[in-house]
Amino acid sequence: MDKLKQKIIEEGRVLSESVIKVDSFLNHQIDPVLMKQIGEGFADQFANEGVTKVLTLESSGIAPAQMTGLTLGVPAIFARKRKSLTLNNDLYSASVHSFTKNESNEISVSKDYLSGDDTVLILDDFLANGQAALGLINIVKQAGASLAGVGIVIEKGFQDGGKLLREQGIRVESLAIIDSLADQKITFHKEGAS
Ligand code: 5GP
Repeated sequence: MDKLKQKIIEEGRVLSESVIKVDSFLNHQIDPVLMKQIGEGFADQFANEGVTKVLTLESSGIAPAQMTGLTLGVPAIFARKRKSLTLNNDLYSASVHSFTKNESNEISVSKDYLSGDDTVLILDDFLANGQAALGLINIVKQAGASLAGVGIVIEKGFQDGGKLLREQGIRVESLAIIDSLADQKITFHKEGAS
């Protein structure tokens, strides 16, 4: 997605060889016009999969998930990172190790919003080692729901998550794939290259 790549080049800040900050349009301030286009991009890719729910993780996945849900005409659910008072025992839960924070979180989704009748599209802002996606897939399995695939705004192709998921036969669609952040330079994956 050229618009997204352009935004990453213009506004992304390379913090290290493995982390890029995109707070100006995705992780803190949100660019709603770009989010709408992102939502349309995912909705287009998964249009024929019979998706009934979009599932993400709070908080940075919510904006793209909501826009995708809007375009597909289905609800977007975000897994919570902490059990709140309004959530009780009727939860699907999984443990997720955070790449950026280096801590494990219990994530949970109410059983009210996912069931065996659902076909789920998982979305997230970044794909690094795949832990967030695997936690969400675990929750989809607990619900007995079908998985349409995983949509990622920015995949870091030099980390293992994409390989891990695709090797399991899971369809992963990333709108931008970064091959390298070495020397403060953002290098995107060339389409068609493996
Ligand atoms: P994974 O679970 O695939 O290892 O990491 C994905 C999660 O970590 C995403 O939900 C995202 O919040 C965070 N993350 C991983 N890498 C980056 C990065 O380079 N930049 C930012 N802003 N977040 C990242």
